[in-house]
Amino acid sequence: MANGDAACSVPTIKFTKLFINGEFVDSVSGKRFETIDPRTGEVIALISEGGKEDIDIAVKAARHAFDSGPWPRLPGAERAKILMKWAELIDEHAEEIAALDTIDAGKLYHMCRNVEVPATANTMRYYAGAADKIHGEVLKGSREFHAYTLLEPVGVVGHIIPWNFPNSMFYVKVSPSLAAGCTMVLKPAEQTPLSALYSAHLAKLAGVPDGVLNVVPGFGPIAGAALSSHMDVDAISFTGSTKTGREIMQAAAKSNLKQVTLELGGKSPLIIFDDADIDKASELALIGILYNKGEVCVASSRVFVQEGIYDEFEKKLVEKAKAWVVGDPFDPKVQQGPQCDKRQFEKVLSYIEHGKREGATLLTGGKTVGNKGYFIEPTIFSDVKEDMLIAQDEIFGPVMALKKFKTVEEVIKSANNTKYGLAAGIVTKNIDTANTVSRSIRAGTIWINCYFAFDDDVPFGGYKMSGFGKDHGLEAIYKYLQVKSVVTPLYNSPWL
Ligand code: NAD
Repeated sequence: MANGDAACSVPTIKFTKLFINGEFVDSVSGKRFETIDPRTGEVIALISEGGKEDIDIAVKAARHAFDSGPWPRLPGAERAKILMKWAELIDEHAEEIAALDTIDAGKLYHMCRNVEVPATANTMRYYAGAADKIHGEVLKGSREFHAYTLLEPVGVVGHIIPWNFPNSMFYVKVSPSLAAGCTMVLKPAEQTPLSALYSAHLAKLAGVPDGVLNVVPGFGPIAGAALSSHMDVDAISFTGSTKTGREIMQAAAKSNLKQVTLELGGKSPLIIFDDADIDKASELALIGILYNKGEVCVASSRVFVQEGIYDEFEKKLVEKAKAWVVGDPFDPKVQQGPQCDKRQFEKVLSYIEHGKREGATLLTGGKTVGNKGYFIEPTIFSDVKEDMLIAQDEIFGPVMALKKFKTVEEVIKSANNTKYGLAAGIVTKNIDTANTVSRSIRAGTIWINCYFAFDDDVPFGGYKMSGFGKDHGLEAIYKYLQVKSVVTPLYNSPWL
């Protein structure tokens, strides 16, 4: 385990209260909860705990800002100016934001600082650029009627986000909904509230009017449930587990039938064919499962390798996994930090024990690392049968299930043998194979000869029990807009 040698010091925690109507405030109950550093298991800070009353106050603020405030009524170009300024502020404060995600979620500091945080500034810019290009269409209609559509903001949006990409998820949700002219209440995950509160402060600096963005940290079954069942919230955009997604749909159904979009779990297959470059493919497979310590909804947790290269591939993969550096996520040499929290750490370890008991072969890993914090070795199982728990459940940790296959038909069947459908990867030089497999896998994103290739312009979302509705791309902005059709009679038109 690599230690110390921190490239950046632990930041001072400046924001610990709820952000409602443009102010940082205590919760009504005065309760606070601990946010924990997964490197050590120690408390970083006490955070105001939002409850039902706080959600109610925040929704009222967002409602007022929507019904009577300037935001939805501003020309798109004016909203864009504020969002562009916010993007600049993200870049200016990238070190601090990155360090907050590192101490709160155990994420690699250098990846956050150099990749993930700058990417969120670009996400904001992408949607700022779209804010003045939101328009409906003129419809031909019939001889008697002229019709056109208006795209109007959906209203007050509730965003509920998970802990694995706290800062990225914040911006993936708020950027398109702000560009669309919505107002909102965002509930960060209870494990990782710090970067969201910091971003609320940046919103204020950028000039986002009071009440447009409210951030209420709190627990899922209390604050999250209050948001998803609130009668005055028009839409919920959720990212998290399939189990919670189901609860949110039920809450929406039982309250005001609010619009729901769900980005849920995955058990993504990466399929490597005989013609692949073994060195590159084994690297891709390893990064596919170990990026962000496997706490990634699209992690390549099932890797299928064709029989002709299987033995050499397995040897290379295990060598690389053994050389993978686990340790302090501030250290630039480290490739994997701690799991996000104790619950996640214990959950991953219990799946590893399950895998052993089910009869899969543990090729490498399986143990904890160090004597404090929540570190787990990169873990690879082979001889994994499709009905084993480790082949079916989303583990959300650094645990790969490796499997040999013979034919294209066989691997398509195996890859689709999951309740999830978030993403898949294919590695081959054969364009026909790539085309056949990419069209046969039931998943929302297919990466050919790459993995984790995200882009602001490329829609992302699930099939099957991985959810519905898209984040990223212009598709995302449409989930925060609703279509109004305007029809008027047409008299004596010379044209059809
Ligand atoms: P989770 O569903 O327990 O929590 C996610 C969020 O939902 C948190 O903010 C939590 O407080 C809230 N929540 C929990 N119970 C709630 C309830 N009853 N009502 C309303 N809100 C509630 O998920 P998790 O275990 O914290 O996160 C990991 C999961 O998120 C994984 O399954 C992963 O695949 C998924 N995820 C999906 C994507 C994607 O884009 N598809 C991205 C990241 C994570």
